[in-house]
Amino acid sequence: MYQSMDFKGYDLSNESEEIVPIGSLNHLSTKYESLDYEVIENELYREEEQKKGYRYVVQKDFSRWMTFFWIGVTIAFIGIIIFISIEIGTTFKFNMIKKYFDGCTEADCMVKPYFVALLLNLIPSLVGSCLIVYVEPMAKGSGIPAVKCFLNGIKVPRLIRLKTLVVKVIGVTCVALGGMWGGKEGPMIHAGSIVAAGVSQGKSTTFNKDLGALNFFREDHEKRDFVSGGAAAGIAAAFGAPVGGLLFSLEEGASFWNQALTWRTFFGSMVSMFTLHSVLSAYHGHPGDLTYKGLLNFGKFDDLSYHILDIPVFVLMGIVGGLTGALFCHLNLKLFIFRKRYVNKDWKKVLEVLIVCATTVTISFLLILFTSDCKKLGLDPTDHPIQFGCNDGEFNAMAALWFQLLEGTVRSLFHDTPDVFNTTTVVYFCICAYFITLWTYGVHFSGGVLIPGLCTGAAWGRLVGRAVFHFFPNTNIGIYSLIGAASQLGGITRMTISLTIILVEATGSITFGLPLMICLMTAKWVGDFFSESIYDTQIELSGMPLLAWDPPPLSSNIYANNLMTHPVITFKTKETVGNIVKILKRYSHNGFPVIEYVQNYELDEGKTKCYLRGLILRSQLIVLLENKVFDGPLTNYWDSVTMETFREDYPRYSSIEDIELLQNDLKLTIDLSRFMNPSPYIVQHTMSLPRVFKLFRAMGLRHIVVVNDSNEVAGIVTRKDLARYKVIRHMGKISVTELKFSSK
Ligand code: ATP
Repeated sequence: MYQSMDFKGYDLSNESEEIVPIGSLNHLSTKYESLDYEVIENELYREEEQKKGYRYVVQKDFSRWMTFFWIGVTIAFIGIIIFISIEIGTTFKFNMIKKYFDGCTEADCMVKPYFVALLLNLIPSLVGSCLIVYVEPMAKGSGIPAVKCFLNGIKVPRLIRLKTLVVKVIGVTCVALGGMWGGKEGPMIHAGSIVAAGVSQGKSTTFNKDLGALNFFREDHEKRDFVSGGAAAGIAAAFGAPVGGLLFSLEEGASFWNQALTWRTFFGSMVSMFTLHSVLSAYHGHPGDLTYKGLLNFGKFDDLSYHILDIPVFVLMGIVGGLTGALFCHLNLKLFIFRKRYVNKDWKKVLEVLIVCATTVTISFLLILFTSDCKKLGLDPTDHPIQFGCNDGEFNAMAALWFQLLEGTVRSLFHDTPDVFNTTTVVYFCICAYFITLWTYGVHFSGGVLIPGLCTGAAWGRLVGRAVFHFFPNTNIGIYSLIGAASQLGGITRMTISLTIILVEATGSITFGLPLMICLMTAKWVGDFFSESIYDTQIELSGMPLLAWDPPPLSSNIYANNLMTHPVITFKTKETVGNIVKILKRYSHNGFPVIEYVQNYELDEGKTKCYLRGLILRSQLIVLLENKVFDGPLTNYWDSVTMETFREDYPRYSSIEDIELLQNDLKLTIDLSRFMNPSPYIVQHTMSLPRVFKLFRAMGLRHIVVVNDSNEVAGIVTRKDLARYKVIRHMGKISVTELKFSSK
């Protein structure tokens, strides 16, 4: 419940951190710091602007466009590497399995192909999971929740490192080669973000190499814009959907957006898509053919026409997608708690991946063994038809569903004629697909839920299509399969606008936009009624202080003085080095108001008042101490300090413990007025929570200083103070709870 506190905020010192139970959704981790999206317009900044003039502005703008171009090209090449490695690897794998299966039509000869398949799947899965567990855990999963948090303003450690990218790329290839139920499309978003963050900075912290170029982009807000563009370029490469990518960044991530950024993001996405298409078409022997699809190819639907009477069926399918999606998120949460409790050692994490992989292979073989669905060769929806259990000239339809990449299975379910798969084959496949996806999402591997979700939905959508086909033989069951896929994925991820456009672009049919929108909106509404999306559940479990889109409802009677922390740790405009070091060592805060004590004899009978002069960040103070920018009796170093001095250390600043100072240094002073942000956002202590919230959200702020009626510093509010208010919507009821801080 809301609590009123007069000029007294929440104490975030370690003593107040709570031990939260495993799987608690009601905590905020103090481990995550915020990013600074505000431009610090201090004296140095203004001087730089004056000195460099309009030429600098044009140069910066041109570099921005060029950087987006290179981001697009780089992410496309990463996609190409992944695509070609997977294609070569899986062709080899399925040919081997087929070789051992050839001539095997009875159960007793199935042992050999089973063990071959097991071995060929386990080896890449082992490599992929070891890389995640022992080399870079940040490359786990799709990375979408973490990218979403970064764009929201949270510093997620190691999220955008080169090492993470390398592990991600190898990991995602291993997932596909290991036949695990994870898609490469989600990881492409993460990979795109890393590429964007790397290319735009002109340096690599991993290799300690600085190209000395693009230094003007070494700021959080610039990096954020590039990362939004990189995520969009990742989607464009993965789905061949540049507008979908742009909308994904807008819908899922961006806390800040403007027209110029929209254009640049679109440009980067287009470059990415066309680079990928042209290289892949050349690779497949059609150089110059730009119509080659993205990494994911849904195939061409001949007829996507629908009738008004189909709409209620689509709505019903949206409801099913929402319900099964909500159940998926709920069960995944339970699995997460189980994993935290029992799968808590590195070797156990790797073992779980191997068990999931082996179970997937075993299930596929058991289904092939126990279902008999033989179809004439020529209808075969796979490049590697398996004869097992069938007569000569026939192939096993269940094997066809399992022995190809997930993308291929989705395509088969979308396009194959109704008689290719028996209903029982699709029912068994669908149930297994749902539970395998559920179990697989969250294990230590580098795959996303997008394609497994689509595949599961395509299967049950096909069943609906078959039912309709039974009554109306002219029905194109692929339409229902597509709606099922969209509903299932919409129910799990709650993506609406972007998923509609991604599917429209991937299927190449604009007329089918309306049914997709209808089922996705229905799936979202139904799903939201019961649970959060899978991504938001992951974010809440990790305790990342994500700022919601809107302030909590009915919160206008909460004021800034209820939110703020008081007393505030501040610095004076001229502060001694000793004092700065002492405070930085004692408090872990990242922002400090800079104040001045003024005695006003005319107005306040000589009372001392404390006025705000600016705000200084911990990182700025660290740079000043490291460079010894002190005002001594004989020395005055600060003239040599420019914006470049601060950019050099970005984004990893030293810790205060690592800075070596002489005893004499501690007596010197620093004039903070030249370096601080002289015009930080301030609010009156009477400002309501919704207004403070909107300010944080719209401006991407990290700190706001609160002043009292006489404009003296009264407190400070950070984004974590606001992120604590969590709105819970469950079964049509809304409640607001205050999250606890934990050091988890
Ligand atoms: P972040 O970690 O998000 O980058 P920060 O370290 O400055 O920012 P938080 O960790 O968000 O601050 O804040 C922890 C708590 O400390 C919050 O309740 C906040 O109000 C309070 N706080 C932040 N800065 C100060 C300060 N200078 N003086 C007193 N309290 C502060």
